[in-house]
Amino acid sequence: MAADGSIGRNYRIWQRIQTAIEVVYPPRCIGCGEMTESDFGLCGPCWRETPFIGGLVCASCGVPLPGEDDGHRVECDDCMRQPPPWSEGRGTLLYAGKARALVLALKHGDRTELARPAARWMAQAGRSLLRSDMLIAPVPLHWSRLLKRRYNQSALLAQHLGKTVGLPVCPDLLLRSRRTPALEGKTAAERTETLRDAITVHPRRADRLTGRHVLLVDDVMTSGATLAACARACRAAGADDISVLVLARVAKDA
Ligand SMILES: [Zn+2]
Ligand SMILES: [Zn+2]
Repeated sequence: MAADGSIGRNYRIWQRIQTAIEVVYPPRCIGCGEMTESDFGLCGPCWRETPFIGGLVCASCGVPLPGEDDGHRVECDDCMRQPPPWSEGRGTLLYAGKARALVLALKHGDRTELARPAARWMAQAGRSLLRSDMLIAPVPLHWSRLLKRRYNQSALLAQHLGKTVGLPVCPDLLLRSRRTPALEGKTAAERTETLRDAITVHPRRADRLTGRHVLLVDDVMTSGATLAACARACRAAGADDISVLVLARVAKDA
């Protein structure tokens, strides 16, 4: 009886602390900072302005396609012409408007708290890709960039995704062994050449991917050249299969 009494008292104390926390830190929208019902969410207007990808998408690169999703595998023209070195890919948001602002805030704005809700959205968008034998790995940053930025946004997304879906994460499976210039404005062949040998599997992590299905995680997919370099490195080191999941997908020019 005494124990029950103390549990009840502890619960009441806990409730009071919880209320005090909410008064000091009321839940805020991660998009605009307005007060919301629950923590780590978007308010109604921000939700409506954030372009979540839905409907028919390319099974390889996740780009939205016109038409209805009837459950059959469909690919975009680019992926049919030149299949990427992974089997399936999905994007969560279109890299535009409010979604672009969220991605940039996570990448350059020290808004690391965005990684948790973003990873939950990614888990939802990538649910059809998930396999029980998967190993999650982020696209790596060169150490000099990591030093400057202090965190790798893709590694944060990978870690939260792993927690959300209950799959193992290997944050340093891949290494960026040399700095590479920006890929913008380069042709597909130039991108591949720029990234040649820039991404390698960590020699001490190679045993973790032998025969495994690797899920590569990145914040943004533009041409997919960096993800392709990661996928080739994984394949060469003995991965059985590779899929990719990104927070935001850049739409192709019409
Ligand atoms: Zn908002
Ligand atoms: Zn595609």
